[in-house]
Amino acid sequence: MKRIVTDAGKPGWHNKRLKKFIGKQFGRLTIVDWDHDVYYTESRVAYWRCKCCCGNEVIVAQSSLTAGLTKSCGCLRHDVAIESHTTHGMSYTRLYRVYKSMCNRCYNPNVKRFKDYGGRGITVCDEWLDKDTGFQAFYNWAIKTGYIEPPRDVKVNDITLDRKDVNGPYSPDNCRWIGMIEQQNNRRDNHIFHIKGERLTISQVYKKYNLSPSYISDRIHYGWCDDAIIYAILHPELGLRMKNGGYVDKDGFTVLIPRS
Ligand SMILES: [Zn+2]
Repeated sequence: MKRIVTDAGKPGWHNKRLKKFIGKQFGRLTIVDWDHDVYYTESRVAYWRCKCCCGNEVIVAQSSLTAGLTKSCGCLRHDVAIESHTTHGMSYTRLYRVYKSMCNRCYNPNVKRFKDYGGRGITVCDEWLDKDTGFQAFYNWAIKTGYIEPPRDVKVNDITLDRKDVNGPYSPDNCRWIGMIEQQNNRRDNHIFHIKGERLTISQVYKKYNLSPSYISDRIHYGWCDDAIIYAILHPELGLRMKNGGYVDKDGFTVLIPRS
């Protein structure tokens, strides 16, 4: 499935790309020469010899350079971690890891799953890939589609970013959160809530309290008890969230959940 070509044969298109890329700068790296090409099922990745500001030479996949995934020989990694932490403050969230691994699967041939994504021509839309605003755009979409960041001490493996059309790109139109939707459908009508003396299915609760699409399923997923979910619905002003297995309000004060 993977074929490495080290002699491009110097036909016209090869000379054209040499002209286009040699001397180009990506962060601390400057392209000095073509090294080789790797052919996958539906895509080809060029590898370029790059010189880093610090003096090191490295060979880097073109897609990693243009997607902004590689900006130095490795000497920058520390700086970038600090920079991205301070720009959006989200570097240590699960959502940011989801975002990075999406970009890596599509543009970084060094990751194992590249052959099934970038290697098959799967891309990330420009809006999400943008080096400066991409993560923010992805974040906005995620929140709008019902993503809730799990508390840091909770392990979540079964909520995944999914593409509706498996041959299509990662884009707002083609993506959805899989665990959440399933969760919602599974739990919707066999889970009964008792609110203020009324017996309601999840669908009825959604309707009655005009909740956002995954309000209940996400909280169930992250281990909230029914009483806490009900309390949060009845007291939205509290901004109730889970912390260390208990519940706190928006100011971080512990909230004791009354039995309903
Ligand atoms: Zn360097």
